[in-house]
Amino acid sequence: MTNKNTNHPYRSYFVGLDQEVPLLDGTMQRYINFDNAASTPAFRCAQDAINQFLHYYSSVHRGTGFKSQLSTHAYEQARHTVLNFVGANPQTHTCIFGKNTTEAVNKLSHRFPFTETRNIVLVSGMEHHSNDLPWRSAAKVIHIGLTSDGHLDETNFDNLLDTYQSKVALVAITGASNVTGILNPTHRLAEKVHAVGAQILVDCAQYAPHRRVDMLELDNPAHFDYVTLSGHKMYAPFGTGALVGRRDTFEQGDPEYRGGGEVEIVTLEQVVWSEPPERDEAGSPNTIGAVAMAAAICQLQSVGMDEVARHEAELTSYAIPRLSKIPKLHLYGEMDPARAAERLGVIPFGVDGLSHFLVASILGHEFGIGVRNGCFCAHPYILHLLDVTDELALQVREQIIEGDRREVPGLIRISFGLYNEEDEIDALVEALERIVRGEYRGVYHQDARSGEYHPDGWNIDFDQYFKFC
Ligand code: PLP
Repeated sequence: MTNKNTNHPYRSYFVGLDQEVPLLDGTMQRYINFDNAASTPAFRCAQDAINQFLHYYSSVHRGTGFKSQLSTHAYEQARHTVLNFVGANPQTHTCIFGKNTTEAVNKLSHRFPFTETRNIVLVSGMEHHSNDLPWRSAAKVIHIGLTSDGHLDETNFDNLLDTYQSKVALVAITGASNVTGILNPTHRLAEKVHAVGAQILVDCAQYAPHRRVDMLELDNPAHFDYVTLSGHKMYAPFGTGALVGRRDTFEQGDPEYRGGGEVEIVTLEQVVWSEPPERDEAGSPNTIGAVAMAAAICQLQSVGMDEVARHEAELTSYAIPRLSKIPKLHLYGEMDPARAAERLGVIPFGVDGLSHFLVASILGHEFGIGVRNGCFCAHPYILHLLDVTDELALQVREQIIEGDRREVPGLIRISFGLYNEEDEIDALVEALERIVRGEYRGVYHQDARSGEYHPDGWNIDFDQYFKFC
């Protein structure tokens, strides 16, 4: 691999980028991570913040000692940092820490004030399952249609709002697709949502690490009522995410988890819940995770979200034409390199005649390149993009139920982080060209149950690389 960009300004901000990993032929190679849409590596500043903070780490909210006071201060500062990061007004919005976006959406689905007459949630057809399945058990879900290239069908959205009007309680939509990187016009949608008296949740798990989020003031019709974040997608993989949402929602009702840390008074007969956000943070929180998330946010802010977006657009417009030239390779979603700034650097593709399971396995085992393959927790969206017929979908469903995943439709996805470089894209393109030409060395066997391909002779002792004691 050539090293055109060894002076890349951001690589030094990260932990582990120079880590070498073993390949099938026994050699070692610097790992190339193109799986940032799943989880990102850690910012060094997040690791440093934790190391520094651990010297003072103690219980939050309950202790009177200095360390407890400082820990409580750090935890509350982290909350403010998150609120500030998404442009939320602390008077009207609160930040509830939890594990991740999945937990945040589930929480909102339990806490949202549905009524007898306002109980429809409009969910887009491109959602990650985490912003779809929780709603199915909380309300009546209607899916918003998509265009053939995977964008939101805004005409269908308008029609649904028009048809259901005051029955719509909430629109739950992602800021950016984790499959195609397509951005949704969320502020424009918010205006339409508020015009019928409904509210909007924008899933920012994918969006926030790459673009500036601005929830806006509540009196602005384009505001967001709720957003979700996952620390492990924004360079702080220490187990914390956040739900930022309207205080008035969380001032009402009972929390879905009950226990310590969220009550004013408990008698044997009665409970008086705390005000938000404590009401929705039962038990001892992940203070370390919150500290790391806030440190990562500070780093992103110091780079500047415009710069983050610029760097990513540069990589995307570099990658698209090069990937497009590879014979038998098909890109999905937005394919115009000139529009790279209008989408995230998340690029899905398929290769004619080669299973997505196989391509991803060869990239990992023979080229040290980490990608993701499959359906990316967005099964309906993938079936739509691949134009899978109902008949085939049914057939595959039956095969999966019988324990055979070999024919599961899917794609291969690369997704960029702040640290990726053009020479890594060159290495990927070269690897894919070789794979397409059949120039890979391993002999691969597919496991029917998982669908995954494993090469002969891959006997790795992981303890050699990492073990606890
Ligand atoms: N929403 C989107 C758009 C995602 O990409 C993901 C994860 O990939 C999630 C939600 C779920 O995030 P988490 O796994 O952090 O809960």
